[in-house]
Amino acid sequence: MPPTTRARTLRIQVRRHQRDAGRDAMSDKIYEVSRDWAERAYVDAAQYRAMYEASAADPEAFWAEHGKRIDWFTPYTKVKNTTFGPGDVSIKWFEDGTTNVAYNCVDRHLETRGDQVAIIWEGDDPSESKRITYRELHAHVSRWANVLRNRNVQKGDRVTIYLPMIPEAAYAMLACARLGAIHSIVFGGFSPDALAGRIEDCGSRFVITADEGLRGGRKVPLKANVDAALKRLAADAVDHVVVVERTGGKVEMDPGRDVYYHAAAEMVTDECPCEEMNAEDPLFILYTSGSTGKPKGVLHTTGGYLVYAAMTHQYVFDYKDGEVYWCTADVGWVTGHSYIVYGPLANGATTLMFEGVPTYPSISRFWDVVDKHDVNIFYTAPTAIRSLMGAGEEPVTKTSRKSLRLLGSVGEPINPEAWEWYHRVVGEGRCPIVDTWWQTETGGILITPLPGAIAQKPGSATLPFFGVKPEIVDAEGKVLEGACEGNLCIADSWPGQMRTVYGDHERFVQTYFSTYPGKYFTGDGCRRDADGYYWITGRVDDVINVSGHRMGTAEVESALVAHPKVSEAAVVGYPHDIKGQGIYAYVTLMSGIEPSDELRAELVKHVRQEIGPIATPDKIQFAPGLPKTRSGKIMRRILRKIAEDEFGALGDTSTLADPAVVDDLIEHRQNKR
Ligand code: ATP
Ligand code: MG
Repeated sequence: MPPTTRARTLRIQVRRHQRDAGRDAMSDKIYEVSRDWAERAYVDAAQYRAMYEASAADPEAFWAEHGKRIDWFTPYTKVKNTTFGPGDVSIKWFEDGTTNVAYNCVDRHLETRGDQVAIIWEGDDPSESKRITYRELHAHVSRWANVLRNRNVQKGDRVTIYLPMIPEAAYAMLACARLGAIHSIVFGGFSPDALAGRIEDCGSRFVITADEGLRGGRKVPLKANVDAALKRLAADAVDHVVVVERTGGKVEMDPGRDVYYHAAAEMVTDECPCEEMNAEDPLFILYTSGSTGKPKGVLHTTGGYLVYAAMTHQYVFDYKDGEVYWCTADVGWVTGHSYIVYGPLANGATTLMFEGVPTYPSISRFWDVVDKHDVNIFYTAPTAIRSLMGAGEEPVTKTSRKSLRLLGSVGEPINPEAWEWYHRVVGEGRCPIVDTWWQTETGGILITPLPGAIAQKPGSATLPFFGVKPEIVDAEGKVLEGACEGNLCIADSWPGQMRTVYGDHERFVQTYFSTYPGKYFTGDGCRRDADGYYWITGRVDDVINVSGHRMGTAEVESALVAHPKVSEAAVVGYPHDIKGQGIYAYVTLMSGIEPSDELRAELVKHVRQEIGPIATPDKIQFAPGLPKTRSGKIMRRILRKIAEDEFGALGDTSTLADPAVVDDLIEHRQNKR
């Protein structure tokens, strides 16, 4: 073993030892797969190993077989044609096959499950819900496609979708897929500026929106936002705006450009053929969350994406016919694309779509919805779990949740403390948790437990999915072996991978393939333990170096959140004269807990006990709220700037959920000096 690796391994062992001494150590707990689960799941431990090895040894053969899970108009004869460079980067899967995504998600189910519910829609107001069968879905999607076709939407055209979480969002996505148009969904919480930027970036001449959205009892002026966005663009930039009537609120309509969907739909039939698409024709563009910088227009294509989304949905959630599956994401994020719409519908599943928020009309809303619709599989984000945790157990335990059998997490590292709460309180100890690591860029889940096969460790995304080859490299790009910590790369392509940054292939190559030539660089830091389990430690940019010790922000945050008075924490580095970097912690307290200097000292002591003196926070700022993206992720790059007193250089803040939080943090920071 080379000396540097040995030093690192030693350090990790020391740290593990220190952690094991503390409460809620990161890697000491293992939740084994129950016999029940091993029996009922598609794959058990032995099958996982066999399938994983087959996928790694001969990806061609593996994917040639699994590509058949979707229906092809012309079967593929070529399977994998990919290169990560150095030099050119080109990714093609099933490249001579033809198919259509809407056909696979809708039409092919009509014969066997036309009367089965495809989408359960739960409105913001608990008195509103709908059940849409596959046959009804087919009629809606076809009618939508005809409305778009009448407005001259053609194969390859970009269509911007700016809708709330209503079934029409799924209809519009699938209508685009049916016609071969490329959708670009912009989350309904984004401002007119952010929307205008995304319409312009992909040159979209069509916009689909609603009069107003409804979230947590409040109206969101979607159409007015579209009007404001279009005023920022050239007068003829957009030809058509199709408006869904959601609330019936009054909006301005430009007669030459805008039409209500219900009026346009009266003019067309509900029969529309599916366009024959090549496997590598684009399906959608989606801009990343912007946690680290200006969002990128991630492009996904047809065949490989659908195969991968469907296959991961089936195996990771162990989805069985007749079950009700609920992913709480918004369709404005990739999770909504792959795991509310495309993956589940390709599998003929029943997928629940929720318009509202977890706290309205009460903090029990998630669990009320679970009981109302007998949800079996529930998939949400750590940010939601942490905020619900802050309100205690009673709002959860007063509901039944007896239908639940599997829980999932996505979006950020889940702190072991939150994992345990999710497992014990929400799942009553009987539901495995799949902590799924992936990115907008990866199209589907890459590292995750499979519930019948892989024992879980709270806070670890565990092991790679079939066909995924993770590598951990050091700063120089040397591939590390065994237990180690470094930067997470993926060595070879998988079918769901993004193909390019829309309109900027050079940026694609630069961003993902130039840091470590020949590998896909994820931008995330990662540790692998002695069992080969992967632990995402946060973004590489967020790794801090204190007196020569590399530390993931996730680790210090987990220690802070493990303190009973802390609800959330975000940690960043700041320049420190002696240590190189110091640890700056922003801490949100549980409701009812008052900040004080004593508490500050108590937290410092707590972190020293949990991780060790090396992780001692140098500064703790109590923060009523943390800056988050609209998908709920903490924006550490902004916190870094505040810690460095660079208030004027916060960078792109267009994806910030609540700008007031930032003003507040700056004010507190300034007052303290
Ligand atoms: P941008 O790329 O614009 O900075 P973003 O990375 O937040 O934004 P997404 O693609 O939505 O955009 O998020 C992917 C990232 O989320 C991953 O790279 C990782 O940092 C984090 N992530 C997602 N799931 C997990 C998970 N289960 N565990 C740890 N981290 C996760
Ligand atoms: Mg990212």
